[in-house]
Amino acid sequence: MDTKIEELVSRAKKSALFAWSNQTDGEVEFPNAVYICPTNVCNNRCITCAIDKMRKGKDAEGNPQRGIMKWELFEKIVNELPEAPRRVYLYKTGEALLHPRFIDMMAYLKEKRPDYEVALNTNAARMNTTIADGLLDYADYVGISIFAIDREHYKMAHRRDYFDLVLKNVDYLHSEYVRRKETKKIFIYMVRCEANKHYADEEVFDFFSKRYPAFNISINGLFNFYNAVDGIEFEFFDQIEEKKLPRCIIPYSIMPITWDGKVVSCIADPFETNIMGDVSKQSIMEIWNGEKYKRYRKLMSDANFAQLDKEKYLCKNCSWLLSLKTHSTENLCIANRREIKDPHIFFANSQCSTTDEMLEFGLRSYIHGDISDALKSFIIVAMGGKNEEVRNLAREWKEYCEHVFEMRAGIDAWEACLNQHGTTLHEFMISKYHISNASAEKLFMALPDSPDIKVKKTDL
Ligand code: SF4
Repeated sequence: MDTKIEELVSRAKKSALFAWSNQTDGEVEFPNAVYICPTNVCNNRCITCAIDKMRKGKDAEGNPQRGIMKWELFEKIVNELPEAPRRVYLYKTGEALLHPRFIDMMAYLKEKRPDYEVALNTNAARMNTTIADGLLDYADYVGISIFAIDREHYKMAHRRDYFDLVLKNVDYLHSEYVRRKETKKIFIYMVRCEANKHYADEEVFDFFSKRYPAFNISINGLFNFYNAVDGIEFEFFDQIEEKKLPRCIIPYSIMPITWDGKVVSCIADPFETNIMGDVSKQSIMEIWNGEKYKRYRKLMSDANFAQLDKEKYLCKNCSWLLSLKTHSTENLCIANRREIKDPHIFFANSQCSTTDEMLEFGLRSYIHGDISDALKSFIIVAMGGKNEEVRNLAREWKEYCEHVFEMRAGIDAWEACLNQHGTTLHEFMISKYHISNASAEKLFMALPDSPDIKVKKTDL
């Protein structure tokens, strides 16, 4: 076999998608996405957020618990990122735009890793015209949180009086976006909560789409922040049979780094006490494939949520897992944000003139999580590859792709069940996958088991 193909096969077997779908607990080449937290300081106090439970003050050694990322640390992280196209979220907890060198951070990232997508969420209170211009210059995806369509309820939701300021800031961003004929993704998003539950969806869409016709609008359910937000603690996890829970892809695909260089186990972790490693002292890869990460993946692949809980992982209390957002097609194909399409409809890739090139293209697509393109290529090579060895290899990888769709199909059944029961039972009407304590018992009785995990024979 061609050495280039052998190398790609070896890389594909270390991809996040392969490790997750085949439940391997070996090495994963690199996370599909890295969250880098410029600062955990915030200028809002949203009632939907766990800000009040986040670490603060000083730790036992006298280190500050809130602050901004040092430039040298940021450079070290960026310089250790692999060159393959991936995504960096330049935020985690806190308001990213409060970092005094936020625009420099985006510029540095784009200079060093031009193929990376840069994404962030912001409350836009600090987004003056210079920052707005910088976002349009460098960011690929910007989410803007505005949780009300009037000042009074904005104050209740954000616990700050920034409604008029935020709209003024976003007005400028929108006008520049239109003037520059931008196509990057900008979202206004609302999280449903007590302060905004009285609005009909149509009112929200109407308000934002009239004011910002070029932006997308998204209404989301509450995230329980692993039971760290008062009033939305979930109490029913102990009643769930573990086999009914899906295995989360995040331990295989996303690495979150705090402002002071700690790698923590999940993206929205407000406590930041379960430390996987420290990038100021170790390399990113040392941490990502260290013993602690491998054990985390093993516990997740075994759906051993009780043990995860004992070892201080947050999964057993995570409404994200139940919401299936972790299994969204975006997270499965996070490298290029393409949706998983019907695997039976395919077109040959016009850039490939030989089936060897097609095989290579398929393996590269798989590595980047673009499972749909990968499957198309493997089907073509399995039928028309130049010799039996190549055709067999393509057949093997076609099966791996189909297995991802099987896993996804099991999740679809789960999702359909949540939809069917959740939409009528939950309190906040749009948050159809985020369910209440009251609805949990009925819901879980109706849930199917999570998809059977078939471990494929591999040479790992
Ligand atoms: S289950 Fe929740 S806490 Fe665990 S890794 Fe997934 S998103 Fe994070």
